[in-house]
Amino acid sequence: MKAIALIAHDRCKQDMIAFARVHAHALRGRALIATRTTGTLLERELGLEVECYLSGPEGGDLQIGAQIAEGHVAAVVFLRDVLTAQPHEPDISALLRVCDVHNVPVATNLATAEIVLAGLASR
Ligand code: PGA
Repeated sequence: MKAIALIAHDRCKQDMIAFARVHAHALRGRALIATRTTGTLLERELGLEVECYLSGPEGGDLQIGAQIAEGHVAAVVFLRDVLTAQPHEPDISALLRVCDVHNVPVATNLATAEIVLAGLASR
């Protein structure tokens, strides 16, 4: 089964945890991948099993992008802090771009994340 990728910038991490808590049942049934800090928090706070890549600023976004390019990802939830400049902005753009190249659903806010998860569940 293809994975769901979960990434949250620092100011969005609590939102990600709250989202994952509400949807923990659905997420437990899926393979989950994440950037390191996001994934570690999800494991610690919710007991989810997450395959963690490098932290986003260290290349984790690109590693997840590679998983998308190779067809291993069903959907991405990427909660971005759009009010703060990110040192790895090119990596973020690359990740979003590769989702479009490979037609992989990517939710960049909670409202879309809800719809994407519901869509996956109905497939
Ligand atoms: P993090 O990376 O989960 O390791 O914080 C996310 C990011 O900043 O892209």
